[in-house]
Amino acid sequence: MDRLKELVERVIPGKKENKLNKLDEAHLARQIRLAESSDPGVRKRAATEMAKLPSDEAGEALVKLVKDRDPEVRAAAAYSIRDIAGKARVPVTPVMDALQLEQADSPALFPLVGALRALGPGVAAERVVAEKLGWGMSRAKQAKIDQMIVLRETAAELTPHPVEVGPPFDAIFEQLTNEDPDIRAEAKDILAENRYVTRRLWSIYNELMEQEPRRAMLAGRVIGHRLNPRGLPKVKSEVTMHKVGVPIAFVKCACPYCGHENPNIPVPSPGLDVPYRGTRDRQGTAFTLPVLCDFCGSWFYIGFERDPRMPE
Ligand SMILES: [Zn+2]
Repeated sequence: MDRLKELVERVIPGKKENKLNKLDEAHLARQIRLAESSDPGVRKRAATEMAKLPSDEAGEALVKLVKDRDPEVRAAAAYSIRDIAGKARVPVTPVMDALQLEQADSPALFPLVGALRALGPGVAAERVVAEKLGWGMSRAKQAKIDQMIVLRETAAELTPHPVEVGPPFDAIFEQLTNEDPDIRAEAKDILAENRYVTRRLWSIYNELMEQEPRRAMLAGRVIGHRLNPRGLPKVKSEVTMHKVGVPIAFVKCACPYCGHENPNIPVPSPGLDVPYRGTRDRQGTAFTLPVLCDFCGSWFYIGFERDPRMPE
């Protein structure tokens, strides 16, 4: 019933009322009081609880909490804002101000980006973060430019001879987890463009899923990038079978930290029809795979409601 109501409200704009029932209203009033506590743990729990109480009042309370003196509280408030953004009114400016003030290494930095993406100005939020962290090429430091050049030079060493694919391949593959998203993207482009490495990527994906799932998933995402450079939300395994002779399906999933939509995540083929979401832990999911976010570089899980490898 709630889902239906939510759907109707989404389809008929202006029909939103952002009101809670009496019980939830009392619960929210209590959380708003707890948000004033001197104990940061209590304030954090209150901020988290407000995600379940989407209303304009919760929105007001949460934009106060993104200015909290404790970064964990600010992060929790940002996560909750992202959750209620489509269902309640949340003032955008205080959230953008909070992001501007956030330190580069703060745990609240990417959650605030996620909140702003959900509220609208995601591109502006990304720009603020790129500036803070020295990402982007226009004002890149010499060391970063040098690193990019070395990557391209290494790429030239990739040849059809399997023996020689070894060291240059490994050096480039290593950079898929570089802390700078531009370098990660460059490494991904290089490997995706090079047809000599597809077989190697497939064997990593296929053989390492049990022992080194992160490495396997990185390889699978490069294959996805090769096949689907524009990042369409779903790619069926028949398509990959036809194009590169390997059967993997791909989906797109939003990062639970920064909200970035990550395309080309390799999943078992039936996974295309099972509901999933990006999660920070494995709770409440039947099957998870690790994913490295293209934007913020956090490892998160894509979590499925039921195990897509099992028949229904
Ligand atoms: Zn992210």
